[in-house]
Amino acid sequence: MIPVRAYFNLLSDYLRPLRPRVALLAVVLFGTIGLQLVNPQLIKRFIDGALEGRGTSELVPIAVAFMLIAVGQQALAIWSTYLAEDIGWTATNRLRANLTDHVLHLDMGFHKGHSSGELIERIDGDVTSLSNFFSAMMIKVVGNGTLVIGILVMLWLESWIVGVSVTIFTILALGTMTGLHRIAVPRWRAVRATAAEAFGFVGEVVEGTEDITANGSAPYMEERFNDIHRRWLPQTIRGWMGWAWMWSTTIVLYGLSTSIVFILGSWLFGIGTLTIGSVYLVFHYVEMTRHPMEQIRSQMEDLQKAGAAIARVDELMAATTRLRPDGDETINAGPLRVTFDQVTFSYADGEDEESDPDDEIVLHDVTFDIAPGRVVGLLGRTGSGKSTIARLITRLYEPQSGTVMLDDVATWDAHIVDLRKRVGMVTQDVQLFRASVRDNLTFFNDQIGDEEILDAIHRLELDSWLASLPDGLDTLLESGSGGLSAGQAQLLAFTRIFLEDPGVVVLDEASSRLDPATEALIERAVDHLLEGRTGIVIAHRLGTVTRADDILILDDGRVVEFGERRTLAADPGSRFSTLLATGMEEVLA
Ligand code: ATP
Ligand code: MG
Repeated sequence: MIPVRAYFNLLSDYLRPLRPRVALLAVVLFGTIGLQLVNPQLIKRFIDGALEGRGTSELVPIAVAFMLIAVGQQALAIWSTYLAEDIGWTATNRLRANLTDHVLHLDMGFHKGHSSGELIERIDGDVTSLSNFFSAMMIKVVGNGTLVIGILVMLWLESWIVGVSVTIFTILALGTMTGLHRIAVPRWRAVRATAAEAFGFVGEVVEGTEDITANGSAPYMEERFNDIHRRWLPQTIRGWMGWAWMWSTTIVLYGLSTSIVFILGSWLFGIGTLTIGSVYLVFHYVEMTRHPMEQIRSQMEDLQKAGAAIARVDELMAATTRLRPDGDETINAGPLRVTFDQVTFSYADGEDEESDPDDEIVLHDVTFDIAPGRVVGLLGRTGSGKSTIARLITRLYEPQSGTVMLDDVATWDAHIVDLRKRVGMVTQDVQLFRASVRDNLTFFNDQIGDEEILDAIHRLELDSWLASLPDGLDTLLESGSGGLSAGQAQLLAFTRIFLEDPGVVVLDEASSRLDPATEALIERAVDHLLEGRTGIVIAHRLGTVTRADDILILDDGRVVEFGERRTLAADPGSRFSTLLATGMEEVLA
């Protein structure tokens, strides 16, 4: 079924701003239709005139008018197609932008659950089938529908018998087409779903090429790829078969209609109701319904595709973020106080009833308070929740209960852009863009000049790192890890953050071992980076820990120790001193 309401909602939302253009389109479209209806009348007059033996002085003007109208009608048709495409693309580009914006504001949980390939297919693929809906719909369904009605009116005027027969026939034909269309829609919906799955899968595999090849799971991936395609082909065949049914039915119907016209025409001519000109006129009009009926039929296909696309677009629009609406409080300048107040967090949505949410709790009632300018070393085994704490500070996720505060402003009350500017985070694996080092440092913000970048690099004592890049700031990096080692990528991320000058730096140290030269560079850069800022350093190496003022130890999502580093180190009963004694790199790495 075509969801008429959904169509209407989309139409009115996105066409309202384009009202003048839509009005112009309507005028041009109806102009074309009017001219198409007038022209056969000229042929009728011409034929009857010729048979009555009128002279060329009467016939030539009719022929000339016929040609002028035919050319004019084509010109208007081109214009209306241009207008419809223009409206279609303007409207759907707006829809694409809205969808992209919506998706970008969804939480990380959503993005972990939807591959980038799938989102591209939804935002671009589905919307492209809608653009057809906007443009072709207007011209082909509205325009052709009006044309068919106009033709029927003309036929009724010519002879009611012809009018009745052709009208009944047209209604039956449309009914048949609609019935077939209902069979074909669900088939197309299945095809689109599988297409999205296939693209999602390919996107995922391409992103993971390195790991897949290294683990020798390529044959397995190939098998899954084949699986999807084995489902996709029969579905597509069924989809197209539905279409083929509709297509062949039109041809049969058209043959029937021509026969009806000839039988009726010869009979009505025989009893003297119609002239030869009128018989030709009827034939011509019925012939003329063929094209619009076919267009309406082919539009049905696009409509069914668009119907599936609208449902999926609505579904995407309906995906809500687990984040609260953004606040608008600004966060103070300078180093910030970071407070966790009884924070409990789980990655599960809580909507998933089968799983016991208690099992999946990653942070249990975490409470701590870091004074401005202090540097805290965050320690804990792998999976204890360290990176999760970092994600909560930057509000990539929000806790199920409890509050995360920066200088007494809860993270969800803060303006999100401001928050992310004031909190700098270096993640365990830094993502790089396929772009120059300069663009990777500034996130493509060309307001930041080279002097500023070079100054930041100099102050982090990374000049030697810069010198080691073949083309300096112009060096092109690859996407992903960019052809840099984990340590080098972190150095780049430090500079990124330094340029933003945040009040809190969260440093999630790469757990891989580094060569001594890079390690020394990192140590010094971290020192500079943390000067005059609050620091949360998730450390895997002793060297990084010794710079911390305080130590916070997490175990299985609970704070098990929090205190001044020196005091803890001096207390032989503390976990920290045990860690130091056993060698933290062995325990934590
Ligand atoms: P590591 O030292 O290995 O980096 P970590 O202390 O940073 O470990 P987290 O990444 O915070 O650990 O993960 C804590 C727990 O949350 C783990 O049990 C992990 O499996 C789970 N987890 C992490 N990220 C997600 C996610 N996106 N969705 C669901 N669970 C997650
Ligand atoms: Mg981690």
